[in-house]
Amino acid sequence: MISIKNIHKSYVMGQNSLHVLKGIDLDIEQGEMISIMGASGSGKSTLLNILGILDNYDEGEYNLNGTKIKKLNERKAAQMRNRMLGFVFQSFNLVSFKNAMENVALPLYYQNVPRKKRNAIAMEYLERMGLKEWAHHLPNELSGGQKQRVAIARALITNPKVILADEPTGALDSVTSLEVIDLLHEINKTGITVIIVTHELDIAQRTRRTVRITDGMITEIIIN
Ligand code: ADP
Ligand code: MG
Repeated sequence: MISIKNIHKSYVMGQNSLHVLKGIDLDIEQGEMISIMGASGSGKSTLLNILGILDNYDEGEYNLNGTKIKKLNERKAAQMRNRMLGFVFQSFNLVSFKNAMENVALPLYYQNVPRKKRNAIAMEYLERMGLKEWAHHLPNELSGGQKQRVAIARALITNPKVILADEPTGALDSVTSLEVIDLLHEINKTGITVIIVTHELDIAQRTRRTVRITDGMITEIIIN
């Protein structure tokens, strides 16, 4: 499903260049649940953004579901993302002036699905997340765990093959964190590949495999 070979990435700022990923090799099977763990600044988000086609890489190869991902134009990249990928972020990234249902429906708006239909589909996903009663509430009326479940529903609504979650529990208390991880497990059981970036060991240990990144290199792969 996902194969990356010898990925290098540097950020260039003026005269300076920061070598962040230093030759990453990783294969992820369809339906796998995997965590990427490492200290702050080790390159986890950079790697996830490359996997999510949100950022380019300088050297190496990335193959996603049989498609070579290299310097795609924005239209092609957006098409791949819409077809294949769902994103979940630490800070939820909900639109503050749209209610839960409208937030979940948003990806379908970009696919030109008519309002009535996309809202009906959004309601189904909210119901799956146990949030039907909260559909007409704004994000600031929801708890952290509820916001993250809205974000997960939004990630799922386009039927992605892969969910990419960058510190999805980073802003949540420990009980709510485990609920979110359980939810990601349920999603994984439906065959969706789940990739979780975290710096919390107990979260990482709840995935089948943990990849440890140190200073832009994979230093360990642990089977949990
Ligand atoms: P992590 O997610 O593991 O905390 P990141 O991948 O976000 O690490 O960042 C790795 C390194 O790259 C850090 O030193 C960070 O400051 C730097 N970095 C990240 N994004 C950028 C950017 N857009 N421009 C310049 N430097 C960046
Ligand atoms: Mg990060």
